[in-house]
Amino acid sequence: MSYEKLQLQPLFDTIDELKPKFIERLQKAIAIPSVSGDETLRPKVVEMAHFLVKELTTLGFADIELRELGIQPPPVTDPKLELPPIVLGRFGKDPKKKTVLVYGHYDVQPALKEDGWSTEPFTMFHDEVKDILYGRGSTDDKGPVLGWLNVIEAHNKLGWELPVNLVVCFEGMEESGSLGLDELVAQESKKYFKEVDQVTISDNYWLGTTKPVLTYGLRGCNYYQIIVEGPGADLHSGIFGGIIAEPMTDLIKVMSTLVDSIGKILIPGVSDMVAPLTDKEDALYDAIDFSVEELNAASGSKTSLHDNKKDILKHRWRYPSLSLHGIEGAFSGSGAKTVIPAKVIGKFSIRTVPNIVSKTLDELVFKYVNDEFKKLGSLNKLKIELIHDGAYWVSDPFNESFTAASRATQDVWNVVPDFTREGGSIPITLTFERELGVDVLLLPMGRGDDGAHSINEKLDVSNYINGCKTLGGYLHYYGKA
Ligand SMILES: [Zn+2]
Repeated sequence: MSYEKLQLQPLFDTIDELKPKFIERLQKAIAIPSVSGDETLRPKVVEMAHFLVKELTTLGFADIELRELGIQPPPVTDPKLELPPIVLGRFGKDPKKKTVLVYGHYDVQPALKEDGWSTEPFTMFHDEVKDILYGRGSTDDKGPVLGWLNVIEAHNKLGWELPVNLVVCFEGMEESGSLGLDELVAQESKKYFKEVDQVTISDNYWLGTTKPVLTYGLRGCNYYQIIVEGPGADLHSGIFGGIIAEPMTDLIKVMSTLVDSIGKILIPGVSDMVAPLTDKEDALYDAIDFSVEELNAASGSKTSLHDNKKDILKHRWRYPSLSLHGIEGAFSGSGAKTVIPAKVIGKFSIRTVPNIVSKTLDELVFKYVNDEFKKLGSLNKLKIELIHDGAYWVSDPFNESFTAASRATQDVWNVVPDFTREGGSIPITLTFERELGVDVLLLPMGRGDDGAHSINEKLDVSNYINGCKTLGGYLHYYGKA
């Protein structure tokens, strides 16, 4: 811990003092069922936006705006359904200070008691023995969103100046594809977000349950489909079996050549594009708190392809993977239907990492699939296409904002955080980086077992309160850097 410690104890003490109030604030937020995926609950999502506006106003934010995003595009039941607004606000506008934009979302995943919750999902339950707060949105993402407001409240109470200018951007459609957000960020990059130096997102989780992490990378995803067709209609195998070329047979053959059973991608050239592992990066994996047993517990099996922590994490975070997802048009029910499907569409995707070039990857995939199909000499037709791609993201875990967040974490938790990446994607990360041209930091509050999209979602009180201290401390270290 060789860094000059800032005198943040008064801030931390004030956050402790305000704990009952912060828990009450979260309770009020959880009580609003702002489920963006349920059209009938749209008024509640809007109510949650107004709740935030009220809180921001009380805390002394300026330029508070509810940005309307217009009508939600189909598929929708109500063709006039309005998207929930994006909440913008600003605290401080001192040109001598750096400006940090914090992003979070105020919508939540659906939740019903009948799904298996032990308590009502939209009534916060404080288990005082374990000191855990249960409720939909507690960790994803209402706890972290309110965390930023709590930091301001603690500063106000102390009479401390905030060390940076803060801009908040809270959206209400994150759980439903972030509709309208990319356009807003692009539009405001030179306006509302003009002075922004750094973007911090608190919307992911620790890897495990005991050690705080800072996240510096996400994999991307290129999703493909292979269409094989031949006969003019689905046929009966009793009549046509053995005398026509069957699309499904060709598709299975081709799909089986993409990846082997130990996870190796068989398409030539893909692994050549992967960035070499440096000693510095390799060393980051040593300290990480993770085990094969944790993977087994998460997968509910003993099917790990790797027998040690470092290989598992590297293959989850910094190497590509290819997964076969399904076949559209194939018979998939129970029973013994003797159909020969006329047209089948195989779906697979590749999780991408630095320095894979998306376009080059597409070319390699297309050529390989077409070549493999040609080898079959089939009379059917094959077409391969990309149906979706999202780029990977990786930041420098040694830059100013990560260093500041690491110091704040050490002050609060007395431990150097693990520097982690994630195997999945958070598309908004890239949008901010690209549109604003600034660094993005992922600074999670909750634990790996919080059950973000699951039943009994929770946030430990220690994560909530220490999380507030970490967010606040981070602003101080970053402001001084
Ligand atoms: Zn979230």
